[in-house]
Formats: sequence, structure tokens, C-alpha cells
Amino acid sequence: MNRAMENLNALLTIPAFKSMIKDEELRCTSGSLEVMQINVGKRCNLACKHCHVEAGPSRTEVMGKEVMEAVLQVCREQQVPTIDITGGAPEMNPHFEWLVEEACSICSHVIVRTNLVILTERKYRHLPQFYAEHQVEVVCSLPYYRAKEMDRVRGDGTFDKAISVIQELNELGYGKKPELVLNMVYNPAGAYFPPAQSAMEREYKEKLREDYGIVFNQLFTITNNPTGRFAGFLMRSGNLQSYMEKLYGAFNSATLPGLMCRYQMSVGYDGTVYDCDFNQAAGLPVLSEKKIFDFVGKKYNKREICFGKHCYGCTAGQGSSCGGATE
Ligand code: SF4
Ligand code: SF4
Repeated sequence: MNRAMENLNALLTIPAFKSMIKDEELRCTSGSLEVMQINVGKRCNLACKHCHVEAGPSRTEVMGKEVMEAVLQVCREQQVPTIDITGGAPEMNPHFEWLVEEACSICSHVIVRTNLVILTERKYRHLPQFYAEHQVEVVCSLPYYRAKEMDRVRGDGTFDKAISVIQELNELGYGKKPELVLNMVYNPAGAYFPPAQSAMEREYKEKLREDYGIVFNQLFTITNNPTGRFAGFLMRSGNLQSYMEKLYGAFNSATLPGLMCRYQMSVGYDGTVYDCDFNQAAGLPVLSEKKIFDFVGKKYNKREICFGKHCYGCTAGQGSSCGGATE
């Protein structure tokens, strides 16, 4: 665990997360690996205020081809049905397109998480077409459906750029053709919980259609996890303890069976394996083998999940994961 997270865990006067899970089975991964999440690096064109992976233009950490090959090998061996590529801005990894093509040759469900704004830069203008040709599921983060709120989190002008890219994706058939899935992610701009996912999805769909003619498939609402830059914001603003108490108070045991860490593996740029992207941000690798190379050529076994107090971010209310609410 990194130093910031150690401090956070020691300071907080709420019970250890693991003590909330009475069923031993739910403290472990399920027997099958459903999603391989590949975090290809911390480089990003943006530096959002609440980024849990603390990505930005000055970050230099990117996944090399050797690590990618090992991840793909594990995906082949375990017949992983979903490969989920994320970052930073994953498009900025120099091997990104190669990775997408290889992933598409292994499974039929490949997800790319994009901040959209990167796709307006000249070097990446061809990627919407590339995504459509490979029938990649695009999951785009759009912090809000109005410019003012989004620009406050992501920077001036980011909303208009994102909207122009979504319109382009719609023109290519995204959100319209069944094979071109376009999903969006919403997370709150501060220390509060997201609204109910279904209500927020209706609101986004209505506003984006009326104002910009945009259509999309699903909206995922994600609770801000107290890791990375968001944890820093909570500490600086004096909101950490109250936010954590709110998460703890909203603990919902019905979300436990669907926790994303039970079905996935998350690999960092240097090949370190984590139970999820939040653990990656917290510097908490898996409790068993630590590197993806150790998983090559091996039978996939259940493993005990590495929990910390930030995990309350996944079990509050309707639950939260990279795929939205879990209950
Ligand atoms: S939140 Fe996403 S777009 Fe913003 S800095 Fe982090 S990785 Fe980049
Ligand atoms: S933060 Fe990760 S390990 Fe913790 S409950 Fe959420 S998905 Fe599981």
C-alpha cells in the first residue's frame, strides 16, 4: 500500500472493510476470470481534479510490449471473454493499436475507455474509425451533460471537444448499430454520491439528445473512490473522515457478490497484478503472485482479495464498479 493510503487507513475511525464480509466465499475471487483490465499507462492529455490514477501529461509510465504479450497470453490461456483497456488515456501508449488488434483476435468483447478529448488531437483523429472497424465497445467518460460543470473538472473547452467526438461516433453508427456499443461514465464532481443510475441515465439521454442529437447505450454511474487525486482532494478540503463515514453508513451487503474484483484482474503498466483499478491506485497488488508473468502457463485459481478502507466506495448504496452500479 502506498504511503498516502496507509495514512488514510490508519486515520479513519471506521471498521476494516474485510470485517464487513461475513461470508468467506465473498472474500475471494470467483473461480473464473471474466474480465482482464489492462491499464496501459498513466500518460494522459488531461489532468482531471479527481483522477484516481493520478494520470496527466507529465506522467511517463507506459506499458511496454513485453508486458502486453504476457497479458494477452494469459487472456488466451484462460479464454477471457472481456478485455478492458484503460489508462490514463490508453490511446497515448505507442503500442495501443497493436494491443487492440491482438485483443480483438482473442475475444469478441474488447472495451476501450476514452476521455474523448484525446480523439480531437491530430495524431489520434483516425481512432474513431479504427474503433468502429474493430467493433470495439467505447466507454467514454463525460462528467456532465453541460459544459460548465464538465469544464470545471476537466479543463476549459473539454466539453465541446467531447461532444464533437460523440457526434462523430454516432455518425459511424455507435449507439445506433447493435455491434457498435457506446457507453458513458458519470462520476460526481465532489464528495457526494451519484444519483440512482437509471434516473441519471434517463436525464443524460434526454439532455444530450435534445441539445446535441446524441444517442448512446448505457450510462454507468461510479462513486468517487477515495484513492489517488480524489483522496488528496478529500484530505486537503477536510472532507475525508465525513466522506468515509458516509460510505460506511451506506454500506450495502447486497453489493458484495457483484464486486468487480471477484471476476477480474487488473494489470498495471509494469506488469503488476491487482484485484481492480482502485487497488492499483492505492498501491495494493494481489496477495498471491504479483506479476502477470507469474500467471502465464498456470491454471487460474481463486485468490483472496486484498481489501482496504477505500473498498467502502464500491459497496455504498447501489454499489459501484467500472461497469456502474452493481446491485
Ligand atoms: S480522469 Fe481520465 S481523463 Fe482525467 S486525468 Fe484521469 S485518466 Fe485522464
Ligand atoms: S476497491 Fe477493488 S478490491 Fe476493493 S471492493 Fe472495490 S473492486 Fe473490490
